[in-house]
Amino acid sequence: MTQPDVGDTDLAIHGGKPVRATHLAYGRHRIEEEDIEAVVQTLRSDWITTGPKVEEFEEAIAARVGAQYAVTFSSGTAALHGAAFAAGLGNGDEAITTPLTFCATANCVAYMGATPVFSDVSEDTLNIDPEQIESHLSPRTKAILPVDYAGQPADLDPILDIAERHGLIVIEDAAHALGAEYKGRQVGSLSQMTMFSFHPVKHITTGEGGLIATDDPKYASRLRMFRNHGVDPEVRHKQQLVNGQWYYEMQELGFNYRLTDVACALGLSQLKRLSDSIRRRREIADYYTSVLSSLPGVTTPVEKFGTKSSWHIYPIRLELSRFKVGRKEIFQALRAENIGVQVHYIPVHLHPYYRQRFGYTPGQFPKSEEAYETLITLPLFHSMTDPDSQDVVTAVQKVTSHFAIR
Ligand SMILES: *Cc1c(COP(=O)(O)O)cnc(C)c1O
Repeated sequence: MTQPDVGDTDLAIHGGKPVRATHLAYGRHRIEEEDIEAVVQTLRSDWITTGPKVEEFEEAIAARVGAQYAVTFSSGTAALHGAAFAAGLGNGDEAITTPLTFCATANCVAYMGATPVFSDVSEDTLNIDPEQIESHLSPRTKAILPVDYAGQPADLDPILDIAERHGLIVIEDAAHALGAEYKGRQVGSLSQMTMFSFHPVKHITTGEGGLIATDDPKYASRLRMFRNHGVDPEVRHKQQLVNGQWYYEMQELGFNYRLTDVACALGLSQLKRLSDSIRRRREIADYYTSVLSSLPGVTTPVEKFGTKSSWHIYPIRLELSRFKVGRKEIFQALRAENIGVQVHYIPVHLHPYYRQRFGYTPGQFPKSEEAYETLITLPLFHSMTDPDSQDVVTAVQKVTSHFAIR
């Protein structure tokens, strides 16, 4: 791909012609005929809720990410809730996570009556900084929840080391990182429990859906019980042999968090194209980096040596001292060019719920807050065309050069 002309420099937000005629979303699912075929086949079968496709999908994901077990849930958020339950989080417990994430990462801790404790990010990857974690430990700490921000795996070795030394459970939020690698190992095979999401903007989709990968049979069994009203399927089977086929027993307070066969048929079909999806996302990310890394006032995302990002999103950071306007104006100018930019994320501790319930205040996590003020996520998804990605680059060049301080 060659560097496109900047062309018309009248910003669309000031009445000029937009770079594109149609809106380009920041992320988007990709559904092929074979996906539709797979779903229709399941709709015509005997099972549409929990049947053979669920198990087949779980086995396929477990094999793909190098885990012994995989347990599907109705969403990534439900899967995180399940992991927090399986980890035994409860009243009075604490779990450490990053402020720079989607609120669901921290919410699952609060669902269990435990307290989410934030620990700031590293400036380069915007992942939780392992060096700061220990200062947030207390006798009540039970778990650490790192997030693989943008698809770049968190620095897991030191995190797993801290966890081992202090007897903590690591629940990795890998909603962005299906197919990513850390030091030659698959994300999904590293932490005690790893969550993947199958929301339509993620690498593969089941509509809504999520999963926990784990090597521990105890966690797998607690996760299966939790997603099905607290009824343990293995215990139930044994009891039915004794008590009759109608029999079931609730061991714990669970939920209906099951994923359906229809959804898993879609997921299985999508999974076949995961490697291709990552390859395409990487190609676009490499193109963005090749052009935008030399753009004044723009910092492009890093991929750490020894890791492979799955390139879920492509967040750039603005050096605001080099622009006449703030991030908001640059964001809005890009939207006016029909580039569907986004911001990932509003730091979780700044949400009113977190301030009121846990007493968090602005200024507590300066790296996350500073990053938030300067972040803009550019469109990145595997069905983007080369002209789409060139439009993104053209618009970023056009808008940043217009507002640059010379
Ligand atoms: C998408 C996402 C989730 C939640 O997943 P859902 O499937 O939408 O419930 C959690 N954490 C992060 C970082 C995410 O990006």
